[in-house]
Amino acid sequence: MSTEDQSVTELHQQLSLLQNLDVGVLILDREYRIRLWNEFMENHSGLLYNDVNKKNVFERFPELPVQWFKHKVDSVFLLKNRSFITWEQRPYLFKFKSYRPITGLAPTMYQNATLLPLPSPTGRIEQIAILIYDVTDTALSRQELESANHQLRTLSETDQLTGLYNRGFWENRLKDEFSRYARSLSSSALIMLDIDYFKKVNDQYGHLAGDAVLKNLAHILREATRTTDYVGRYGGEEFALLLIGTTARKAQSVVERIQELIAAARVSVDDYTITYTVSMGLTEVHPIFQTHEQWIKMADQALYLSKENGRNQMTLLVPDS
Ligand code: GH3
Ligand code: MG
Ligand code: MG
Repeated sequence: MSTEDQSVTELHQQLSLLQNLDVGVLILDREYRIRLWNEFMENHSGLLYNDVNKKNVFERFPELPVQWFKHKVDSVFLLKNRSFITWEQRPYLFKFKSYRPITGLAPTMYQNATLLPLPSPTGRIEQIAILIYDVTDTALSRQELESANHQLRTLSETDQLTGLYNRGFWENRLKDEFSRYARSLSSSALIMLDIDYFKKVNDQYGHLAGDAVLKNLAHILREATRTTDYVGRYGGEEFALLLIGTTARKAQSVVERIQELIAAARVSVDDYTITYTVSMGLTEVHPIFQTHEQWIKMADQALYLSKENGRNQMTLLVPDS
């Protein structure tokens, strides 16, 4: 076999290898014209080599962001270095359908891409190759993992019945706020709240009716507070509100709003309409407290006094300093 025959055979072998790769391969010249387009690209784009040969890539693929992509390609020509594009930066270069068994999860193929300079025998770069890798599986499993982590985090932070923060998460926020106070001395108020004669609601109307009252109260507490405040379910029918950056005086207007909303609330279960009242204890953070537990304890004492004094009221306790 002559040397020429040999190199033609080699070229054919290389081309057939390119064709059968499970990776997209295209070659662009300096005018962004397509000079090679392998089977992977044909299959996924629906465009044959003859449809795209010598055509400007931006005309054929208007989804490519012109400025950004030209910049990428130009720097490979200029610096003669490889360049990479990951799906995290941009989910895809070419908008191809993905063929995943669970449709809808990823309608478009996620792609990583490598841009390679192709030096001519004289060392000049007249063309670059772009390799397109289908990374849909990796992207999907990463996203599923992130979404599962997010759900887990939410589950571990919230109370299922009311959707409020659970006790553990809420108390950690109080602890954070307490140590922040030690540094900044910015005021925060704590309200402990307990439903009055809640056992009677359960006894009279049933446990489900009791649950409906708890949900109603949770809704009211959310309504009456700011998104920066922390409202938690502290125990069965006991709730705790941490009002960030709020003095006891300002917290009293929050208490009044809560009392008004509860007075107007009517919880309908079956044929019953249930009304209810709550008792509250309010304490502002104070330098006398050594730990956040002491702060909770004082708010609890305030709540206890409200119960003692006949319920359906709020007591404010200010520590002697
Ligand atoms: P007080 O005015 O002194 O607070 O009276 P109370 O009846 O509310 O007193 P207590 O705190 O002893 O009763 C709390 C009741 O709350 C007892 C329990 O059955 C009920 N409870 C706790 N968690 C739930 C819940 O998730 N759903 C329902 N329906 N009831 C609950
Ligand atoms: Mg109670
Ligand atoms: Mg209670």
